[in-house]
Amino acid sequence: TWVLWNDRLVKDEDIHLSKEDRGYQFGDGIYEVIRIYDGSMFTATEHINRFYNSADQIKLIVPFTKDVFHKMLYDLIEANEVVSGQVYVQITRGASPRQHQFPTNMVEPVLTAYTKEVERPVSQMANGVSAKTVEDIRWLRCDIKSLNLLGNVMAKQEAHEAGCFEALLHRGDSITEGSSSNMYGIKDGVLYTHPVTNLILNGITRSVILDCCKEIGLPVVEEPMSLKTIFANDEFFMSSTTAEIMPIVMIDGKKVAEGLPGDWTKKLQTALEAKILQAVHV
Ligand code: PLP
Repeated sequence: TWVLWNDRLVKDEDIHLSKEDRGYQFGDGIYEVIRIYDGSMFTATEHINRFYNSADQIKLIVPFTKDVFHKMLYDLIEANEVVSGQVYVQITRGASPRQHQFPTNMVEPVLTAYTKEVERPVSQMANGVSAKTVEDIRWLRCDIKSLNLLGNVMAKQEAHEAGCFEALLHRGDSITEGSSSNMYGIKDGVLYTHPVTNLILNGITRSVILDCCKEIGLPVVEEPMSLKTIFANDEFFMSSTTAEIMPIVMIDGKKVAEGLPGDWTKKLQTALEAKILQAVHV
């Protein structure tokens, strides 16, 4: 398979990375994951904008225009003939002798991207998954899609060890998001989700879902949900590029309502699916 290494498509074995790459040593970089449906990237523009925005937030300059970057990702997908899958792309501040402050701007950032074939998690989307509540101990810039994922990794591991699919993060009583997803509750015909602040990653799937809510007439309240009243929800779900709309039917070993994917959640899944089909077949 081909990988993108800076502006070149190379074979996997021809990629060379430094032991002093700042991504490797400090997590000094940012990344994106973009879903490929039927050979096309879904919401590519939104992901690319977020990539540039994350880079900007850490004062890293991406050395390509957005259009060139978009084309480079498409060339990679085409070279690997990916039909259903994802592209992972990251950029680091480059390699230079280890010191915390930024290197001089003579040091070039290092971009890598690769693709992976993955199927949609259809059976989990139909049946729902479980979550474990975990205290959110991450930093205060969760809006940046940073390579520093230790807080997310630790939380996910804790959920995984408890046999759960995702960690449901909370700062005290306030539910923020998942370890790699956004979180939503539905109660009395209203959808609740954390507002876009520094405490969550503004999910691209989240924005698409909020559009779907308008279409299906589901009112949205963007405020943090309370952990104490979590079981008052009629429905609960998470979203991400890879998990799409994933019903959460069990939290900390207790059922949410009847322990089945809810009706609004299913309607939202249908609405999202329509958008995917529309985007891919134009
Ligand atoms: N929140 C976090 C912490 C994430 O890592 C992700 C990405 O997977 C999301 C939310 C969901 O974002 P998106 O819908 O853009 O994949």
